[in-house]
Amino acid sequence: MRLVFLGPPGVGKGTQSAVIAKKHAVPHIATGDILRKAICDETEVGLEAKSYIDAGKLVPDEVIIQVMNDRLQVSDAAAGYILDGYPRTIVQGDALARFLLESEKKIDHVFYLGLDEAVLVKRISGRRLCPSCQTIYHILHNKPTKDGQCECGTSLIQRKDDHEDTVKNRLFVYEKETAPLIEYYKKQDILVQIDADGSLKLVSEKIEKILKEDPSLSSSD
Ligand code: AMP
Repeated sequence: MRLVFLGPPGVGKGTQSAVIAKKHAVPHIATGDILRKAICDETEVGLEAKSYIDAGKLVPDEVIIQVMNDRLQVSDAAAGYILDGYPRTIVQGDALARFLLESEKKIDHVFYLGLDEAVLVKRISGRRLCPSCQTIYHILHNKPTKDGQCECGTSLIQRKDDHEDTVKNRLFVYEKETAPLIEYYKKQDILVQIDADGSLKLVSEKIEKILKEDPSLSSSD
């Protein structure tokens, strides 16, 4: 199973894709998580990515394409994966297509999660992240059992790029750079549009229904 999750920041891509990945026992590959870890580890990629992420801009295509081509060749990705946050530009979409063509694989579905902009801003500002295990919470919709603390015991943080002024820039960048991928995948006939206005459970049920109805996904490849 190879899936792509596409949608504006705050729509719930990270949470939904993690749920689906866990359920189907395939790796959840989130470029944002990879880059945040690289920043934490102070790697070359991390040092380059930090200023872009903090400003709500996209990391340059050539950097992210290299990171993802390397990641997709790790053995755990051989039988499939869920991509969260990649591709985010047409150039990245073309790079992923080339990568897949070389290995004679294909994307099964691109789930495009859509939501109203006002709801997005609210969702993002209430979002909290565990810097240790990367679990995402929300102060209203997905509260941790203990206030401000992840189930793993680490104190939750608000991502720097989830602050309101940066969020507006991220939404602007999304419209300009990422939204064109909706048409791109629609033309390839693999886009599935999902209304993301609803509880976590409701939205993941909609996604599961599509996956269940796809006979080609009954095998792991
Ligand atoms: P996310 O956690 O997916 O919201 O990503 C956080 C930030 O990482 C984004 O705002 C970008 O700065 C950067 N980023 C993540 N994925 C990509 C990508 N595919 N291309 C460029 N930048 C990315």
